[in-house]
This record gives sequence, structure tokens and C-alpha cells, in this order.
Amino acid sequence: MLSRVVAQSAGLTRSATTVLATQSRQMSFDLSDTQKEIQATTLKFAKEVLAPNAAKFDETGEFPWEIVRQAHSLGLMNPQIPEKYGGPGMSNLECALVVEALAYGCSGLQIAIMGPSLAVAPVYIAGTEEQKKKYLGALAAEPIIASYCVSEPGTGSDVAGVKTKCEKKGDEYIINGSKMWITGGGHAKWFFVLARSDPDPKTPAGKAFTAFIVDGDTPGLTRGKKEKNLGQRCSDTRAINFEDVRVPASNVLGAPGAGFKVAMEAFDMTRPGVAAGALGVAWRCLDESAKYALERKAFGTVIANHQAVQFMLADMAVNLELSRLVTYKAALDLDNGVKGSYNASIAKLFASDTANVAATNAVQIFGGNGFNSEYPVEKLMRDAKIYQIYEGTSQIQRIVISRMLLGHFAQTGSSRL
Ligand SMILES: Cc1cc2nc3c(=O)[nH]c(=O)nc-3n(C[C@H](O)[C@H](O)[C@H](O)COP(=O)(O)OP(=O)(O)OC[C@H]3O[C@@H](n4cnc5c(N)ncnc54)[C@H](O)[C@@H]3O)c2cc1C
Repeated sequence: MLSRVVAQSAGLTRSATTVLATQSRQMSFDLSDTQKEIQATTLKFAKEVLAPNAAKFDETGEFPWEIVRQAHSLGLMNPQIPEKYGGPGMSNLECALVVEALAYGCSGLQIAIMGPSLAVAPVYIAGTEEQKKKYLGALAAEPIIASYCVSEPGTGSDVAGVKTKCEKKGDEYIINGSKMWITGGGHAKWFFVLARSDPDPKTPAGKAFTAFIVDGDTPGLTRGKKEKNLGQRCSDTRAINFEDVRVPASNVLGAPGAGFKVAMEAFDMTRPGVAAGALGVAWRCLDESAKYALERKAFGTVIANHQAVQFMLADMAVNLELSRLVTYKAALDLDNGVKGSYNASIAKLFASDTANVAATNAVQIFGGNGFNSEYPVEKLMRDAKIYQIYEGTSQIQRIVISRMLLGHFAQTGSSRL
């Protein structure tokens, strides 16, 4: 209403003020009924299935196939795959709600379920209709795994330093090299792979790499041992080796030589989802801490009555709410076709740091019990750390953010993107 009054006093026509009033409704922070339903259904599944099984899978490191199957049957695995390829066709905001709620139950199980999303993104961005039908269609039809295969033993942050190479011979490419830390690597039916196609070190990254979809059963592709990680232990992370792996030219993703851009653009799509995972962890930390603080007594009263504990809870809540706002905004940007890097990186950075501070303080609130695996928060602390590392470390997010804002300022004189 205010916008209408302000606009009319500024001399705009009635139809212009109606447009403004409609636009002002787009600022609503409320979820739609459908979004609330998606959130509630996922949270129910997270509380009833993921949370009670979290400790078991953390301890055994076993891949949670049965839970993955259940998630798939509920439409909670790769929910972003469009309906025309057989998927649930959820928006990016809806996907963020799903990830947040699953990670509330257990972020390790969430990654086991949703890890393939990182491989879906480049196919969604650059795949031909045929590739999408085949590879996204397969993920929509069955609870199978696909992996994003870019990092290597010698390089992670510096993607342009990828050494895996490919050479075109007739209608095929031959790939040689080794990848590292590949989520879902032990089970993947297909991989998104980035390889250097131009050996000249002077060729810029934008022209030097080619992206592929590689079937998991291609001869010459071998999988390393399952890595033992600090947290998210049931997520299957491995080295993947390529020795004269022959891939048909029809499996090139995007144009030959343009793979670096495909790999980078995928992050714009997936970083809001990673932020949503961190959000789920931070939310769980706050709930566990509030519950414990209202039960545990010290100095004749529940510790929730001690101001120092109250302030830790308040800070957790503040950063959780702010993370939620920027994460949903980054997801909505994608839904509205806004180029994603800036808010996606802000969300990924802020939510990851929020989860880590929340987890550390949750352990603090639990005291000695917080340091022990009989209680839920030590796992939350171990699980939280990875958010500051994978899909671009927190340092890399700061580089992306500062580069974008400085570029924008240089062009427009404003830091507001
Ligand atoms: C559990 C797990 C799952 C993963 N899943 C996948 C996956 O599915 N697919 C995949 O391709 N990769 C995956 N990764 C790899 C992950 O993306 C990389 O580990 C990450 O990008 C960091 O790369 P790095 O480990 O080589 O660290 P490095 O790049 O060696 O960085 C080491 C440190 O130096 C800092 N640093 C580097 N460059 C700069 C700079 N320019 N300025 C400031 N600081 C800098 C980093 O922030 C970091 O703190 C996974 C990793 C883990 C641990």
C-alpha cells in the first residue's frame, strides 16, 4: 500500500502503480502452501527415518541404500530434474527446502541422497536433449548415483590446474588421469568429467578443457578405496582413475574446449543447495542446544537461565535466520533466471560459517556430553566442517564475491549488485 501512495505522489499513472503493487508482493517472505507441504513432508521423513539412523551410518560408513531408495520413491532425490525427463520438476527454492530439511535429519545421509545433484547441474546446463533424456532420465527413473568428477590429488580450488587429459581419435576421446574426493564415486553409474583437451599451457582455461559424461562401466575407469573422512561418513568419497578410457564424441557435454565454463556454471546452480545443507545442520544445532539448555541444570537452575548460554542461543538464531534469507534468495535468483554466482557464493560462505559456529557452540552448551558420541552434537560438529571446504572453499567464495563486487563497482560506481 505504501508503495502505491509513494508512487502516486511521485506522479505515476494508476496502471504503473498497480504494476508496482504487484511487484511489491514478490518481496513476500512467506512460503507458498506447496512449498510448506514440501518442507513438512521432507522434515517428517528426516525426523522419522534419517535422524534415528544417523549415528549408525556415521559409525559404519556404510552407504545407506535403503534410505536412498525411500527418498527416491518420495521424490526427494534429484527433485530438480524436470518433469519432461521423468523427475519431480521442483524449483530451486523447493530443492533448497528439501536439502535443508534432509540435512536437519542427517547431513551425511542427505549427501548420500542428494550428491548426484552436482552431476545433474552440468548436464542440465549444457546437455543435448538426447543426453538429458538418457542421463537425467536414468536418475529420475531409478535410485542410482551419478558423480561430479573434477578435483584431483594435486588440485581442487584451482580448477584450471586439472591435469587429466583427453585426446580425440576419430569419433572417440581417450581420457587419462586421476580424480580425487569424488562424492558417490564408488556407486556412480555415470560421471561428469573435466579433462584438458589443449595441452598448450598458454591456452586460456575457457578454451583448454572439454567436459564429458562417462559411463561408470567404461573399460579403464577404476575406483579407489572409500576414504575415511572426518564427517558425513556414509557419503562415499573416492579417487577415480582413468587409463585409456574411450568415450564417444557424442558424450562431450557442451562444445569441445568449453568444459571449464560448464564445470563453473554448475556451481552457480549447486551452491545454494550446499548452503541449504549447512542451514539444516545449523538449525539442528540450535534445536538440540535449546532442548538441552532447558533440561540441564547447573548452579540450581537450568542452564538456559544463564545469560552466557542465552547469548550463544541468540547468536545461533540470528545467523541461522540470516543464512536462511540469503540461501532462499540465492535459490530464487536461479528460479528467476538471475545469474547466480554472487548470492550463491554469499549464501554458501555465510551458511557454512554459521553451521560451524553453531556446531562449536552446541558442543559448548552440552559441556562434557557435547564431546561424546552418545550425544548428537559432536557428529554435527564433524559434519559441519566440510561445508567450508567442498564446492569451493570459504576462501574461494570470498574471491568470487570480491571479484564480482569490484567488477560491478568499476562499471557502475555502486557496490550493490
Ligand atoms: C568429502 C569431500 C567431498 C568432495 N566431493 C567432490 C566431488 O564430488 N567432486 C569434486 O570434483 N570434488 C570434490 N571434493 C573436492 C573439493 O571440492 C576440494 O577439496 C576443494 O575444492 C578444495 O580443494 P583442495 O582440497 O585441493 O584444496 P586446495 O585447493 O589445495 O586448498 C588448500 C587451502 O588453500 C586455500 N586456497 C587455495 N587457493 C587459494 C587462493 N587463491 N586464495 C586463498 N586461499 C586459497 C584453500 O581455501 C584451502 O584452505 C570433495 C572434497 C571432500 C573433502
